[in-house]
Amino acid sequence: MRSVAVVPGKHEVRLIEQEAPRIGGAHDVKLRMLEVGVCGTDREICAFDYGTPPPGSDHLVIGHESLGEVIEVGAKVSRVKLGDLVVPMVRRPCRHEYCVACRSGRQDFCFTGDFRERGIKQAHGFMTELVVDHEEYMNPVPAELREIAVLVEPLTIAEKALEQVRQVQQRLPWVCARPSPGAPEYRHRAVVIGAGPVGLLGAMALVNAGFETAVYSRGAKPNPKAALVESIGGRYLDAERMSVDELAEEVGNIDLVYEAAGASQVAFEAMKVFGTNGIFAFTGVPGRKAPIEVDTDLVMRNLVLKNQVVFGTVNAGRVAFEDAIGDLGTFHRRWPDAVRALITGRFPLDAYRDLLLGKQGGIKNVLRLAS
Ligand code: BGC
Repeated sequence: MRSVAVVPGKHEVRLIEQEAPRIGGAHDVKLRMLEVGVCGTDREICAFDYGTPPPGSDHLVIGHESLGEVIEVGAKVSRVKLGDLVVPMVRRPCRHEYCVACRSGRQDFCFTGDFRERGIKQAHGFMTELVVDHEEYMNPVPAELREIAVLVEPLTIAEKALEQVRQVQQRLPWVCARPSPGAPEYRHRAVVIGAGPVGLLGAMALVNAGFETAVYSRGAKPNPKAALVESIGGRYLDAERMSVDELAEEVGNIDLVYEAAGASQVAFEAMKVFGTNGIFAFTGVPGRKAPIEVDTDLVMRNLVLKNQVVFGTVNAGRVAFEDAIGDLGTFHRRWPDAVRALITGRFPLDAYRDLLLGKQGGIKNVLRLAS
């Protein structure tokens, strides 16, 4: 079976031949991998800046944004059945009894750092032909989402952020109440920083949740990302031509910043202008570059005097996967063209080098492992 692996010790990214995995336990599920998306994390792993092979292995099979089809099940599997489409979860709990997060099934909040992530940290990923995994980590997807379900995993990032935002906004009950029955619950002003897949999926989730949403990203209009944002009812604001002060003036009180660019400079610039009672959610993992200057007095004054909340959010638990599957269906009904436009390229496995090491064009590129 062919798999795409990085060999950090040799600074290599290559196709390897591996023995096909077998069902080992009654709750195991075997998947034929259909598609795997490529994201910035994969490219960082392939630049040897991130990622760790499993203990005892010199290589790591990469790939964590995936879609598979169930082709075999252990004797006691009940969550999925043969032929189901599934998106597997990425993060696996640590083994420490005292990690209340992992013991509660919320390994996305793991305290010990000893969690594993398939395709990223100490566990092989999904850029391979067959995968065996416990049914507990499988999320069934309706067949009508076959062409876009590879977007579920990146969408979970937005779903988890929104789950946290809802909890934080409980502190402002008067703002969050539905103005009338059936109206969206959270009609606030959100700014998404970055128009990559995580930003655009986040914008869809925010518009869908009732936020007035602006996407602040580099690149003059007209461009395909700006057109996509406008087609879902959002606004596109060009970060190269609009300063963060102008952004704040344009948007009004920024109730939420959803950072999805993974660039600390623009994020900390925006931190100077987000609003009263505002929330700033970081989702990007920046590469380590030279330190930058930040006006910490201003940021700290604002945090206190404006009751602001800043949080980071990583990975996603089961609820975020379920929310993502539900929301992707909704986006698909509401904005079929926009959702399809997110996947700009589908490539055969042999194209892995271009996707992982070459210059990335388009929005989301996907490796097709089987059809
Ligand atoms: C993945 C997450 C993961 C994070 C950090 C992201 O690209 O989508 O599942 O937790 O990287 O490793």
